[in-house]
Amino acid sequence: MHEAAIAANLIEAVQQAVGAEPGAAAARRAGGAGVAPGATAASGTGGARVTAIHVLIGELAGVSADALAFAFECLTTGTSLEGARLVFDAVPLTVHCDACGRTTSVEDLVFRCSACGSERTRVASGRELEVRTLELEDLEVAGARD
Ligand SMILES: [Zn+2]
Repeated sequence: MHEAAIAANLIEAVQQAVGAEPGAAAARRAGGAGVAPGATAASGTGGARVTAIHVLIGELAGVSADALAFAFECLTTGTSLEGARLVFDAVPLTVHCDACGRTTSVEDLVFRCSACGSERTRVASGRELEVRTLELEDLEVAGARD
């Protein structure tokens, strides 16, 4: 359902992270053509290709990993992110207990502290939906050793 929008946001976040967003790239094209390895160390990855994107998905995020992967594939076709893999890291649902202060995992969506049985709990993790890490293709440092 809303996975396409999520995929679009995710792609935008990744493109900003690697400095490959079309608008940003154009604005940054201050000194001319190409990316000189080493000279651009401070500005992102210097155009390295993203090979994999690790995404945290909480149990409560309500996102279908399959649908998200499909939307991602569709939306990245023909872009610099085409071919990048989405790797999903599931975040288990846990609650923090106001009664005893512990954080315990939730089984079968029963929001109760499994340490003391109290129902005075708050979700501690499981709502995550975020990019955690990017894997980049090794930069060929052309010219450095030639
Ligand atoms: Zn408790």
